[in-house]
Amino acid sequence: MTDKKTYGFTTTILHGDRQKPIEHGSLHKPVHTSVAFGYTDARQLVSVFQGREPGFRYGRQGNPTVSALEEKVTKMEGGIATLCFATGMAAIGAVFQALLRAGDHVVSSSFLFGNTNSLWQTVAGQGVGVDFVDATDVANVAAALKDNTRIVFVETIANPRTQIADLARIGALCAERGILYIVDNTMTTPYLFQPKAVGAGLVVNSLTKSIGGHGSALGGALTDTGVYDWGRFPNILESYKKAPQPMWGITQVRAKGLRDFGASLGPEAAHHIAVGAETLALRMERTCANAKALAEMLVADPRVAAVHYPGLPSHPQHGIASELFKAYGSLLSFELRDGIDCFDYLNRLKIAVPASNLGDTRTLVIPVAHTIFYEMGAERRASMGIAESLIRVSVGIEDTADLVEDFRAALDV
Ligand SMILES: *Cc1c(COP(=O)(O)O)cnc(C)c1O
Repeated sequence: MTDKKTYGFTTTILHGDRQKPIEHGSLHKPVHTSVAFGYTDARQLVSVFQGREPGFRYGRQGNPTVSALEEKVTKMEGGIATLCFATGMAAIGAVFQALLRAGDHVVSSSFLFGNTNSLWQTVAGQGVGVDFVDATDVANVAAALKDNTRIVFVETIANPRTQIADLARIGALCAERGILYIVDNTMTTPYLFQPKAVGAGLVVNSLTKSIGGHGSALGGALTDTGVYDWGRFPNILESYKKAPQPMWGITQVRAKGLRDFGASLGPEAAHHIAVGAETLALRMERTCANAKALAEMLVADPRVAAVHYPGLPSHPQHGIASELFKAYGSLLSFELRDGIDCFDYLNRLKIAVPASNLGDTRTLVIPVAHTIFYEMGAERRASMGIAESLIRVSVGIEDTADLVEDFRAALDV
């Protein structure tokens, strides 16, 4: 297989490693557990250290197994380079630490993963101005921009209420203003959507979720799409401008974020995630179809008060989702009618498991306000549209009929 022809998503991922020679003809990139990398010529060690020649120095900054995964994620996102981290949060934290300075301003979607919301509060305490806006309408983002706005941050489909950011129009606005546009693609995955298409400069993926897919390893990734002109970003330090300009951002994040904070992805986890990623497309086809069937059953049942799923025509951003995404995702949330206790309902489910993860092969359910969004308090929950009885469902790959019947039967008291 050569690079000359353009192959489809799954063919590319499956055969990606073999584009380079692999030790002993292994079909999987081997798990390299060595922390240090030895050189027979001391001058070569120096040139690797100084970035004049490719190679590995020390496990915290790079590892052959991790770097094979990075190349895979780069291919999935159609980007130019990827950095992997120990978790998705480490990837997000490293970006903020490496690229923002006191006095900078950020505009973020207010519909956010709970820990990202908490991280923004920390960053705000360190002298960065953070404004949260309803990013389903570009006008709210435009109104919040200031001369010192460095980053606009959104998620594709927000967890748990499934609001979809005005992705393309926000991208056009950022391009016009020279602002770095960062999109967290975890809920869509690069199989359903490439944020590069709407002008994102950096893309975040929690590899823990659908990309790894089996709930067996934590990991995160940051991909530079090659779209952003780093010459317009004022916070790049002189020492990182020795790299070619498209690599300025990722070079600074590798040093200041990954190297200095040290949340490196381990080689064993990288291997688990790389194996999982081979079946991403197959799993997404199944989980998205299951989620749609489940949402359609729930919305038709009078005992259900509300269903939030981008695949339903009643969803406020159904049009954007149809236009931009290959399918509508594997996450949905719903509210039961008053009088049906959400904890009793969850306890009647026989297949779906009460647990806090997303993108697993198994269907997982969680009462949102009492768990993952508990710490932020009722007021902020209300501003994010999160009802106290909201149930989030991360839909798995079970047989469709089994899953739909599990959620239907639990409605019978
Ligand atoms: C889970 C998640 C993260 C964080 O990823 P971890 O690997 O759990 O640290 C970030 N963003 C979104 C949208 C997520 O769902």
